Amino acid sequence: MTDRHEELIAPRDSVRLMEGYFSPQIDVEVRLNVNEAPEPPPSGFLEAVWDLLGSVEFNRYPVREATGLREGLAALHGLSPEEIYPANGSNEVLQSLLLAYGGSGRSAAVFEPTYALHHHIASVTGTRVISGSRDADFLVDPSEIERVIKSEREEHGSGPSILFLCSPNNPTGRVETDESIAAALELAPGLVIVDEAYVQFAGRSVLDLRAKYRKLVVIRTFSKTWSLAALRLGYAIADPEVVDAAFRVTLPYHLDAFKQAAGCVALRYVEAVELRTERLVAGRRRMIDALGRLDVDVLPSDSNFVCFRPRSTPAGEVWKFLVDRSILVRDVSGYERLDGWLRVTVGTPNEVDAFLAALAAALG
Ligand SMILES: *Cc1c(COP(=O)(O)O)cnc(C)c1O
Repeated sequence: MTDRHEELIAPRDSVRLMEGYFSPQIDVEVRLNVNEAPEPPPSGFLEAVWDLLGSVEFNRYPVREATGLREGLAALHGLSPEEIYPANGSNEVLQSLLLAYGGSGRSAAVFEPTYALHHHIASVTGTRVISGSRDADFLVDPSEIERVIKSEREEHGSGPSILFLCSPNNPTGRVETDESIAAALELAPGLVIVDEAYVQFAGRSVLDLRAKYRKLVVIRTFSKTWSLAALRLGYAIADPEVVDAAFRVTLPYHLDAFKQAAGCVALRYVEAVELRTERLVAGRRRMIDALGRLDVDVLPSDSNFVCFRPRSTPAGEVWKFLVDRSILVRDVSGYERLDGWLRVTVGTPNEVDAFLAALAAALG
């Protein structure tokens, strides 16, 4: 009796074995651990949101398919609203795509080390994950894409339903090569999802390839360059059929009226966002130069973060030393092949200075 009961109240096996995804939220003065924008949204944004809030009919359900927001996003990219699927952060976008295209009996390919949530959300949705590996420079070699698809075909009769690339790749930093993108689009039998959360820092997108490949899905977010991580808003740019499938697994009225309105307002600030992005790219350059003069290995970066590995001091000790000085960076040691590496987000010039000074002290 008791056993049977415990069996029923336990979560399903794939959930029980799963570690939750989290990054420690420690209260510090300098937060450089989750790649957020260091500045609040552009001036005028909040006032404009307050104005718009006055016209929201709070007794009514919001526009279910977020028509106005999708029109705004489509205009931003020169596309049609039917090609835009918005959700509560790009993580929910990923979840919807996995619910619609993954699930039991299907698989998704990732190339480690990469964004942990691709693997994690796939597992949550019951999608089997196949892990390929990045090369010595943490790029994806086209031959590895071919190998992963081929071995999945041989073992399971069909290739992965979804193939994930992350460009620029989190946590290592660089954009995927044209060759790896081409290989994925030519060889993958299912969707090719390219997560472009950091694309504005790289200035090079795969978006133009959408016209040629219906299987290509591009993911964007308001959490990084837009300074709106708290808003929880992201979107996919995809074939209208893919957008339609994603909506079919989405809960009704998933985007609240406030969020839809705030997202539309944000789109008036494209220029301000571009200027901030330029400043962060300059900060990244300065940070990489300075790290090059310290006793650390540094990975090249096309994003708003930099991975580095202390050569003579254990990474855990450096991380703790920085926390004690109220500076939080991300310990990425747990990722495949990143033992001993830390990742730091490019903050304001003052935050970058504080980080560099504390790191120099940590390294003795
Ligand atoms: C930060 C990040 C996101 C953003 O997720 P949201 O749910 O939109 O906040 C998406 N993908 C990658 C690779 C990221 O690093």
